[in-house]
Amino acid sequence: MNNLDIIEISKEFIQSSEYNYISKNDAITEELVGMKIFDNPIFAFGSAEDNGFTLLKAPSVIGEHFILPKEWLPEANTVISYFLPFTDEIIKSNRIDKHWPSNGWLHGRIEGQKFLMEFSKYLCSKLVEEGYDSVVPILDKRFKSFDFTSNWSERHVAFVCGLGTFGLSKGIITEKGMAGRLGSIVATLKLDISDKNYTDVYEYCTMCGACVKKCPVGAISLEKGKNHKMCSELLDITKEKYKPRYGCGKCQVSVPCERRIPKLDPKIIQAIDEVSNIPLV
Ligand code: SF4
Ligand code: SF4
Repeated sequence: MNNLDIIEISKEFIQSSEYNYISKNDAITEELVGMKIFDNPIFAFGSAEDNGFTLLKAPSVIGEHFILPKEWLPEANTVISYFLPFTDEIIKSNRIDKHWPSNGWLHGRIEGQKFLMEFSKYLCSKLVEEGYDSVVPILDKRFKSFDFTSNWSERHVAFVCGLGTFGLSKGIITEKGMAGRLGSIVATLKLDISDKNYTDVYEYCTMCGACVKKCPVGAISLEKGKNHKMCSELLDITKEKYKPRYGCGKCQVSVPCERRIPKLDPKIIQAIDEVSNIPLV
């Protein structure tokens, strides 16, 4: 089993799994029956021994409670990190109302997470068939989350593996953007390790401030980044309003990093270059 096999197996599952389509039982409204949740995932394959994981134990990053890949699985060789982009239908639906999540987004958040768990278990079962052991940390009984942190952070793991960098809104910007869900598996299988196309934590974020304007409760600012408490308070309100679902995601739609790695418009760069000698890097 190699990197390409994992990618191909995943594409098949995304297309054929019933969990990736909203069922009649789950649909909030009739027209959402059959809605597809995710497009094909993208992957980054990190070494279980990457020093980047050890750095996550620093108090200024996650802290000592972060569990290293080899602490989850002593024989681990690879960390498989993946991003599942939401379909256009889900993303477009959440662009309309400026404050409250669309029904499509609520499905993406809740039924999407259920799919992600099924997808992770499926990949593990394929690894087992080939004789490899694996752990999905967030499904493991040792997994713990605290106030705004946990002992395995999909976003930080994605950054270390090479999937993307943080944005101002604290989501991960990947080559397929930010609107979607992240997952990961720690495995004994040895795979080709992905190149990291960045060095800085916020390298893919242009600090354009679009997410600042999009947040309905002002939880993001260019000066201070994201206020997790304010964000969480809004999510709590949506938990009441949309029980048994919740969500927001306004900072992930109608922003330059929604579907791609944002770049400054070359025409703007040229115009600035013409009037200034200030380097743009
Ligand atoms: S909207 Fe702009 S500032 Fe916010 S995360 Fe995306 S690129 Fe960064
Ligand atoms: S999820 Fe909503 S409340 Fe939280 S930061 Fe994004 S836009 Fe703001």
